[in-house]
This record gives sequence, C-alpha cells and structure tokens, in this order.
Amino acid sequence: MDFTKQYIDGAWVPSASQTYIDVENPATKTVFAKVPAGNAADVDAAAKAAAKAFPAWEATPPKTRVELMQKMLSYFQSIEDDVVQAVVSELGAPVTFARANHVRYQYERIESYMDLTLRAPFVEYLPKSTVYRRPLGVIGCITPWNYPLGQIVQKVIPAILAGCTVVFKPSQHTPLTAYYLADAFDHAGFPKGVFNLVAGRGSEIGNALCDHPLINMISFTGSTEAGSGVAQRALAGLKRISMELGGKSPCVLLKQDNYESGIRSCFNSLFLNAGQTCTALSRLLIPRSDKGKIETLIKQILPEYIVGDPTKAETKIGPLSSQHQYDTVKGYIQKGIDGGARILAGGLPDAPDAGYYVRPTIFADVTNDMAIAQEEIFGPVLCVIPYDTVEEAVKIANDTPYGLNAAVWGPKTLALDVGRRILAGNVYINDGPRDVEAPFGGFKESGIGREGGLDGILEFTEPQALFDHGN
Ligand code: NAD
Repeated sequence: MDFTKQYIDGAWVPSASQTYIDVENPATKTVFAKVPAGNAADVDAAAKAAAKAFPAWEATPPKTRVELMQKMLSYFQSIEDDVVQAVVSELGAPVTFARANHVRYQYERIESYMDLTLRAPFVEYLPKSTVYRRPLGVIGCITPWNYPLGQIVQKVIPAILAGCTVVFKPSQHTPLTAYYLADAFDHAGFPKGVFNLVAGRGSEIGNALCDHPLINMISFTGSTEAGSGVAQRALAGLKRISMELGGKSPCVLLKQDNYESGIRSCFNSLFLNAGQTCTALSRLLIPRSDKGKIETLIKQILPEYIVGDPTKAETKIGPLSSQHQYDTVKGYIQKGIDGGARILAGGLPDAPDAGYYVRPTIFADVTNDMAIAQEEIFGPVLCVIPYDTVEEAVKIANDTPYGLNAAVWGPKTLALDVGRRILAGNVYINDGPRDVEAPFGGFKESGIGREGGLDGILEFTEPQALFDHGN
C-alpha cells in the first residue's frame, strides 16, 4: 500500500503540499511510514469532487448504495490481516484486541448500518403532508487516533449510505488504517468523488474543512477542547455539526455479594485499549462498607492484564500511542500522588526507552474533586472512589462536565433505577451487551448528536416537508 497519496475524485493523487508526516510505531519508537501533510488545496479539490458527485449519489436508490457498500465490505474483509497489522503498528493495540474489536466488530457495525438503511424512514407520509429526509450534502469527517477504523466507520459509512458524499480526514497519528478503507471503496467501484481521503494535520485540514463553502456538515470525533473550536468555526458558516467528544465515565458498584464481574468489566473497558477509549470506565464508585473486600479483589484480578509487546497474542495492554500521550498520562499519575490519592497498583512509569509503556495504575481513596477524577486522562489509570449512600453514588457519577458512558452493577431493579438517574448517553446495566442498533453519543460536554443505529444514519439528513394534502 502506498501511503504517500491522497484519495480524491476516485484516484490516488499526490498532495499539493509535497510535504509529509512521519508515522511512528509506539511499541518500538521507529518511524515506519509517512503520509501527506495535506493542505487547503487538497481539501478544495476533494470538496469540489464530493459536491460534483452529490446529486447523482443522492438520486441513487438506498438499495443500490447498500449493494456497493456490501462490495466494499467484502473486499475489506479479504484484506483483514493487513488492516490488523496496521492498527497494531500505528496504535500499539494488542493484536488479539485489534482483530476482535478494532477490526471485526466494525464489520458488525457496517452490516447494521446497511440493514438499517433499507428500513430507514427516508419518506414519511403524514395526514396532510409528506416528509422527505434528504441527505445533507458534502460531509467533512474528522476522526481521532484511538480507534483508527471504528471512528471512521461510525460516521463515514452512515453518511454515504444516507446519500451524502464525504471528505474525510483521519488522525495524523494513526492514518494508515484509513488507507485500507479507501482502497476498499476504490475496489468496490463507488462513483468518483463519493468518498475522498485527505490526510494531514488537524488545524490545517480541519480549518479548511470548516471554512469550505461546499461542505455542508462537519462530523467530528475527538477531544472536547478541539471539538469546541471546530464547532464554533463550522457554525460561523452555519454548517450542521455533530460532535463526539471526551468522557470521564463512572462504573457504579452497588452493594452486592460478588463484585468480581463488575470489576472485570470495568478493567476491560478501561485497560484493553490502554485507557485510550472515549467510553472508558475510569471512575470506579464503590460502597465504603466493602472497601477492603473490593480492594483485595482488584489486586487479585489485575495480574490478568498483561502489559507488553502488542504483537504477542497474550498481551492485553500495549504501549500508549505516542510520546505526547505518555507525558500526559505520567503527568496525571504525578498529580494523583501530589493530590493525596493512595496508589493501590502501578505508579509512575519508567522512561519510555523501548516504547511508551505505562502500567495500569489504580488510585484508591480518590475524592471526586481531584483532577484525576474530573479530567479525561486517556491512559490506564483508574480512580476508586468510595461512597456511603446510593444517593451519594448518583451525585458523584454525575459530577463531571462529561456524560458519555456509565455502568451500574448490582441488584437489577436498583441498578436500573440508578442507571436512569445517571446523565450519560450510554448506560450499561450489569452484563448488558452493547447493541450496534442503539444510538451512541454523549450528554453535556461529551458531545452533540448521535452516531450508531438509525439515529446515526438520520444524523446526515435534513427533513423537507411537502404540503401535498397528505395521504
Ligand atoms: P483531538 O481532538 O486532538 O483530535 C481529533 C481529530 O481532530 C484529529 O484528526 C485531529 O487532527 C483533529 N484536530 C485537532 N485539532 C484540530 C483543530 N483545531 N481543528 C480541526 N481539527 C483538529 O483528539 P485525539 O487526541 O485524536 O483523540 C482523543 C480524544 O477523542 C479523547 O478526548 C476522546 O475521548 C475523544 N474520542 C471521543 C469519541 C466519542 O465517540 N465520543 C470516540 C473516540 C475518541
């Protein structure tokens, strides 16, 4: 695969910038690829191609759009080993997790979007009118590095299935997976200009997307800080926006006999992508009366989470994605120590001589006003926060600027009641599995809009009412 080009108007072309960004393997700290540092001229070419392709793509029946997407998926599945390898090398994700979660789970999401497109209410007949849900036009998509494929799938696939065309910018830190997806779109024979890939830095490409008059909507996934700036810039031109942002999600353990499943699910959520998951359950709220018992269990279960070389099948926690991420997480561990939290496991990492590794670190006796409990660390750092009453647990769970995800473990009726009182877009009750047909997104500063399910498709449409005496 040649990573040095942009994919614009159905062809692999050189970037107008003629400059490049190095891609580093965080497990070895070696540069192993480079992608274009694209610029506004690349965005302009891609936006024009996407705008030109839009009318015909809008008029293409959903069934035909789905058939093409099925071809794309079939080809993409045939290159699975290359895609897994890319995720392992560019992100440092452990290979077993990369294959199951970063890659195969995305097939399920794509299939769900295809299935829902055939059932989506693109036309609704009301007693006095007909309402058409029309595709919004050209969508500028911006994604983060932490799930290099999943975040693309969540927005690019439904946008195209809804009848929109796309100019897509992957994260400059993990851009390679996106090239395999572009290759699959190319092989499937999508009309020119429906899907365009422009690699480059956030500020440059992001600003050009927000400012471009041919782009109708910005769909952004990333940090709350960058998202707020992107949203304001896009709204200056009255573009539609969709923002999937940060989180600081609670896992509430209600009083119960056996805490093992709750602890393990919290660890899986937090540790399996080395803490670099927007929905990571990074605050564990525990009944103070069982603090000793729960801390003992935490120490017993933690050794299952083997830290090491991401290419080994048994590894559960690989390196962090970059020097920047390593420095940030190390800084937060120091803040936790300075703020008086007690280290139950882990601690400050060693110098990152052979990769950006940070051991899972668990702070006990955390109070919810500490910086480590309020701010998104985005590393394998867990805050264990004791509470005295269920009322207090709900208050603590809701006491951050975020509202993306939550989990509640305990007797079902009480767990459901507590879950309904937590202000988060997604709440897991006991071992309830994720449902790809459900909407995904955040309350409060975790975002605006929804991805996933039917909501995730209709997000890329706008209703048009025709007053035609109805039906
Ligand atoms: P980031 O905000 O630094 O970057 C995200 C994307 O935005 C990248 O492509 C980047 O190049 C681009 N970008 C950065 N600054 C920009 C600017 N000024 N203008 C336009 N584009 C800009 O985030 P990140 O470090 O890549 O990812 C981690 C963050 O993403 C975390 O906060 C995490 O919670 C969040 N996230 C949220 C979700 C969700 O669905 N809610 C999913 C994954 C990650």
